[in-house]
Amino acid sequence: MAQVQWLDEVYKRKDQLVEELVKFLSIESILDESTAGSGAPFGAKIAEALQFMLDLGERDGFRTRNVDGYAGHIEYGHGEELIGVLAHVDVVPAGDGWTTHPFDPSIRDGKLYARGAIDDKGPAMAAYFAMKMIKELGLSVSKRIRLILGGDEESYWRCMKYYFEREEMPGMGFTPDADFPLIIAEKGFLDMKVMGTSEQARLKGYEWVLDEFVAGQRVNMVPDYAMAKLTGPGDVFDLKMKVQEFLMTHQIQGFAEEADDHLKIIMKGRAHHGSEPEKGLNAALELARFLKEVELDVEGARYIQMINDLFVDSFFGEKLGIAQEDDRVGKLTVNAGVFQYKHREDHYVRINVRYPIKGNSSEILTEIEEKVSNYGMRLTDIDHKPAHFCEPEHPLVQTLARVYEEQTGQKAELMAIGGGTYARTLDTGVAFGPVFPGKPETAHQKDEFIELEDLFKATAIYAQAIYELAK
Ligand SMILES: [Zn+2]
Repeated sequence: MAQVQWLDEVYKRKDQLVEELVKFLSIESILDESTAGSGAPFGAKIAEALQFMLDLGERDGFRTRNVDGYAGHIEYGHGEELIGVLAHVDVVPAGDGWTTHPFDPSIRDGKLYARGAIDDKGPAMAAYFAMKMIKELGLSVSKRIRLILGGDEESYWRCMKYYFEREEMPGMGFTPDADFPLIIAEKGFLDMKVMGTSEQARLKGYEWVLDEFVAGQRVNMVPDYAMAKLTGPGDVFDLKMKVQEFLMTHQIQGFAEEADDHLKIIMKGRAHHGSEPEKGLNAALELARFLKEVELDVEGARYIQMINDLFVDSFFGEKLGIAQEDDRVGKLTVNAGVFQYKHREDHYVRINVRYPIKGNSSEILTEIEEKVSNYGMRLTDIDHKPAHFCEPEHPLVQTLARVYEEQTGQKAELMAIGGGTYARTLDTGVAFGPVFPGKPETAHQKDEFIELEDLFKATAIYAQAIYELAK
């Protein structure tokens, strides 16, 4: 058989690819417990997005399976062995500042803008069309190929946990949910809540009561918005002036607003992926930096002090005493992603720590536990995902690297990242694309996009890769 011209085959189907992707991106598949139910554990919209993909598979003649709305798969081919391609259908919340509506996909200058365009619906659709091409070209494969789609990647990974408790583990596989060329190592993750219990502390000698402090929606994102509500006998005018002064000196957007019985302070930052907290602007940390200079009630002051002492200006765990690095994945990072404080109620900060391959998770936890205990706080809701590593000599790595080199003419450098992908849920797995070297990273940010040419190139690469692994 003549050699398949993979990219040409993609171009023959490109209108259809974009059309289906636009439909897929229009579904607001954000985690929503309020609409969760049977068959929709992560809410109605994530269930709809999953079913959308499975319906495509059904329509095109693949075997499909919906595993109780947690995850599902689209399968092709016959054989003992199974190759897995893992992608997710859920997206992070849109955040502020979009040029066009995040769920009304828009094409400008060859770029498709929408929440999920690059993370991870674009790549999921690319992988689907890759499989579809192999099927339509009638290429013979000796292994089964499964596109496995999860619904909770951006939050708690309940999807793949549930799925792999019930379904077969692929012999090897990849996930199109990071960067090209190839990611063989990923940092370990520790998510936790730094929890404080209200002791109904006395309110003697205060100027302001910290009535509320809220920021962030996801632990893996840098919060771009923070709000504090203050009440008390303090001088409102004076405090408003101080806010203005702080915003000016620190070049931060925000404002203070007076209401009947309180003063509200808003600060705006810059959202960024939680794996690179130093590249965003954490609105909550800036607001806490400001509030440190305000005379607050005992409990409020302690919360703000803790944030300043442990997190402000410390993205690599320096203040927590857990800073470390290796030459594969670099530095340990700390993202303080969700803040919740209400006067006389329990309060918390949710943090995401990403540590190097050889990091010791229990040592890290012990250290953090000790630090937060100085503020009467403790750790709860700890979620651990160990670091992940795939041997460079493994046939999976060798094959994907060769395919990448053939299609791009570029050397396939093996990389390591701080992000966590589904690759780590596989016994043998790597992350493979979709962001090409030198291209901006827009995942989890406003105006997220995928360049259409990159989408087509990625589809061609995935098609050849799947074929070479399964032939
Ligand atoms: Zn993703």
